[in-house]
Order: sequence, then structure tokens, then C-alpha cells
Amino acid sequence: GQKVVLITGCSSGIGLRIAVTLAEDEKKRYHVIATMRDLKKKDKLLEAAGDAYGKTLMLLPLDVCSDDSVKQCINNVKDRHIDILINNAGVGLLGPVESISIEEMKRVFETNFFGVVRMIKEVMPDMKKRRSGHIVVMSSVMGLQGVVFNDVYTASKFAMEGFCESMAVQLMKFNIRLSMIEPGPVHTEFETKMMEDVAKMEYPGVDADTVRYFKDVYLPSSIDIFEAMGQTPDDIAKCTKKVIESNSPRFRNLTNSLYTPIVALKYADETGGLSVNTFYNLLFNFGPLMHITMSILKCLTCSCLRRRTVSPN
Ligand code: NAD
Repeated sequence: GQKVVLITGCSSGIGLRIAVTLAEDEKKRYHVIATMRDLKKKDKLLEAAGDAYGKTLMLLPLDVCSDDSVKQCINNVKDRHIDILINNAGVGLLGPVESISIEEMKRVFETNFFGVVRMIKEVMPDMKKRRSGHIVVMSSVMGLQGVVFNDVYTASKFAMEGFCESMAVQLMKFNIRLSMIEPGPVHTEFETKMMEDVAKMEYPGVDADTVRYFKDVYLPSSIDIFEAMGQTPDDIAKCTKKVIESNSPRFRNLTNSLYTPIVALKYADETGGLSVNTFYNLLFNFGPLMHITMSILKCLTCSCLRRRTVSPN
């Protein structure tokens, strides 16, 4: 029969694209429950889903930050039976830590970390009873490697990686699979929202040097990297489909081979010196040429490392 897939954060970006891709599966193998915080934002998804809506795709409201909303949503699923849970909802946060309030930081953790934990807690007991299921988490390259001025976002994704790496062991005993997807930059509203936030930023309590490093050094190279290396939501949806259709899905799944060298640095030097120094040089010494430098780095990295990604094709 059809597999029931529940996806969080489907009103835009990667979540929307995963929902549509699975709903349009040629063999109709998926019954997609696309969820979003606010059903008023359903139009873009419904437009993209076309005929699939009402057949292989249905909608439910779900705010991953609310215990009640999560419980109610799962109770509305027939027999609470979910074969595949895709935790996609997430928010970004960018800028010098001095200018970010603890409240804002908690909001990011509430969504990116506790949101996923809340979903897993609600869905896992039924999966355990059935001795089957697959939990997928939209992590990020920033779940594996810290990135300057993304300190809190990175921390929230690291938290998720640690939580899931720990959970994976007991879940395996129950025949439940757990997979992290780790995209690099992806062209979505995520990027747009972040740039809008940056434009409004006022930097209270931040010294002039830090503001300059952020605005004049980090931002231009980050935009460059997005341009040069960004993937599309469709790429990530195809990678995700591959992961859920694999007979032996891997725990970690980088989607962009340009980032394997960066992750490799970390494992090549367990003191962390190589990563920190490389990022320092990339930012402060090669800033304007950052994406060229990264391409060279990519060429220098052996192909066996590059194969360790899930590719959209
Ligand atoms: P996006 O902003 O288009 O999508 C995020 C979605 O999550 C939105 O639809 C938003 O409404 C939803 N959301 C936020 N808070 C929610 C809540 N409390 N309850 C339910 N839904 C909520 O951005 P995206 O790029 O599609 O992001 C999807 C995931 O991919 C995120 O977890 C993000 O961290 C991750 N990711 C994005 C990138 C990138 O460069 N865009 C890279 C790596 C990982």
C-alpha cells in the first residue's frame, strides 16, 4: 500500500517541493500529509500540487512550536499511522551575537531543535509499536560545521545532529530509520527573509569593527557563495526522495559535493585548528575570491570524498 508521509513547513521552499515531488510519484507510492503553521498560506503549495491535491496530497495545520498543535495534527491522521516523518520546518538567524537577544535565540531553538524533538516524541511511540518507520530531519551543512555570524542557527542544527545521532541507536533496535539531510545553500525564501532581516538590522551594542566584518566582509562573500554554489529546492526534494527510497539509507546525507571538503577538514584535524584557520583565511584573506578558493579546494579533494553525497540526479 501507500506510505503515509507527514512533512512540516510546506508553505514554501524545500518543504513545499518535497511535498509536491512525493505526491507526484509516478507509482503513487505516497500519501502526503503536507502541514503548515498557517493554512492561509496554502495557495503556493496547491498551485504547485495541481491534480495531486485531494488524491495523493492533503493538508493539515501544524505549528511545530506548539504542543497542542502537534498533538492535534497527529491525532487527525488516520490511526495516527505515519510511515515517514519529514522534519523540514526551520528558521534562520544571522548577525553578530551582541545584537541578538536571548529571546530571539530561544525562538530559533524552539523551532529548529524543540520543534523536531516535539514531532519525534509524538510520532515515535506509534512507530515503535509497529516496528517500522523512517524519520528524516532537514539539517544543514551548518549542522556539521560552524559558520561565522551564523552562530546560533548553527548551534540549533548541531543540537539536532547530536539529538538524532543519539536517538538513531535505539531507533535501529525498533527497525526505525533516522536520516539527516545536510544541504549547503539552497535558493528559497530562507535566503530572502534573511537578507530582509539584515537590511533592517541596527546592530545595537556591536562595535564598529564587528559591524564592518559582518556587512563588508562576510555578507558579500556569503552572497557570492549562494550564487556560485546554491542548489534548488527541487534538488533537495530529489535527494530526499532518494534517501527515503534507499534500502539502506545513510544517517548523514550531504547534498552538495562542494561542501564535502569543508566537512572533511574537521575530521582531518581533530583539534579543530585546520577548520578554524581555513575559515579565517577564507573570510579575511581570500574574502573576495572565496568561491574560487572553494572550487580549488573541491578539486583538491579526492573523489572518494565527493561520492559521499546524495546527488539529485
Ligand atoms: P523556508 O523559509 O522557505 O521554509 C521554512 C518553512 O518552515 C516555512 O514554510 C515556514 O513557514 C516554516 N516554519 C517556520 N516555523 C514554523 C513552525 N513553528 N511550525 C511550522 N512551520 C514553520 O526555507 P527553506 O530553505 O525551505 O527551509 C527548510 C529547511 O531547510 C529549514 O529547516 C532550514 O534550516 C533548512 N535548510 C535551508 C537551507 C537554505 O539555504 N535555504 C540550507 C540548509 C538547510
